[in-house]
Amino acid sequence: MSLAAIATNEIGMHVLVRAWPKGEEWSAGNAPLTMNAINSLLAAKKPRELAAAVSAFPPLLPMGVNLEGGRGPRCASISDALSEPGSLRLGPVNPELLQYESHFDVGATPKNGLSAARNAQKACSFGSEWLRSISDSREVNGCELVIEPFADWAFVRNVAGLVSKLLALISSGSDSPMISAGFTKRDNETFGGEVWMIPFAYNPFFAPLKANLSSLAAKLGDYSDYQVLMSAITRGERVAARSSWIAQIAEKVIARCFGPECLDGGKAVFLLTAPVASGDYISLLGGWRTADERRYMLCTMANEGEEAVAKRVASALVDAVAGCRLQSEDGAIANLGWSECAETRFDIPPTLSMQRHSVFADIVYQIVYRGSNRIAICANCGCAVIQSNMGPLKEWCGPACRMSMIRRAEKASR
Ligand SMILES: [Zn+2]
Repeated sequence: MSLAAIATNEIGMHVLVRAWPKGEEWSAGNAPLTMNAINSLLAAKKPRELAAAVSAFPPLLPMGVNLEGGRGPRCASISDALSEPGSLRLGPVNPELLQYESHFDVGATPKNGLSAARNAQKACSFGSEWLRSISDSREVNGCELVIEPFADWAFVRNVAGLVSKLLALISSGSDSPMISAGFTKRDNETFGGEVWMIPFAYNPFFAPLKANLSSLAAKLGDYSDYQVLMSAITRGERVAARSSWIAQIAEKVIARCFGPECLDGGKAVFLLTAPVASGDYISLLGGWRTADERRYMLCTMANEGEEAVAKRVASALVDAVAGCRLQSEDGAIANLGWSECAETRFDIPPTLSMQRHSVFADIVYQIVYRGSNRIAICANCGCAVIQSNMGPLKEWCGPACRMSMIRRAEKASR
């Protein structure tokens, strides 16, 4: 398959566009995801690498799930797009924004985010040239365009990446799995105690959106609307208001919780906007001071030992994926997580088998229930990769990281 292209959608956020066999229903049984495909997603650190990794995957969520207002994944005919390019309502790549939308977890954040985004703009911009090149290729016969939010794929990469890293650290008996996974601990005024946190996703409140009413309404309303998948696997809980009356009026702090634990119990794993998580107050009208403030932080209270907290974080993320539900435009709820397959109870002998209802669920399921496969953590970039049980554990996620480690060692020995 050709490389996925990147464009902006009608509200100004980025989408990934690619050709995929029309109407092909994915199921874990008929098209299992390969370890290579999952590893290229886990090791993606730049927008271009994410686009390349995604090219090998079926759509993240089933295309039949229609979300209100055309949010979320959609498909379009290649020939219609060629004859009337404007009908897709897609715009050019915006590198300044893309660098933030393609925020990957902390161990893998490239220092040169803007140049990586400019590189993606050069290499995989959506446009008439890209459309012509894919329609000329014979392999797209019977294909249509699949258009998915870029932020959703970056979110999946971070969920899968953090789960695999924590699983690897816990299974290797690490003394400090939270620190090794990239978390930092800090006192938090709002929560009245120490909180572990890690930058986890782009906060679209800071997106320089297109000036139209629908984007403004979405921005002033529930801006988690931009991140469809994040809203589908988390639930919003109101954080107890701060004591000062100004803070009470100015801030309605919502935490988005993963898994079944509630905020009150002290064991919740949740996303907060960076200013609330780190305790630095920011005026939402005054814009941002640093790039860090454009992030959502993944947080949990530091009220147990590191191993217990690491297990809590991994479990909350896995539970959230397993229970992923999405409400479609007609009000129907689609189960996109995993559930027990009732049919195999009647096998002889009866077996327990779990049915995955989306590609997203299958990615995380395969990492958790990896059988004899192991998870290695790259000594250069901190990405996790899965490997079989043969041979020594890998030191690098790929040739690029291996080369940069060798170069660094050569420099140090000079
Ligand atoms: Zn690496």
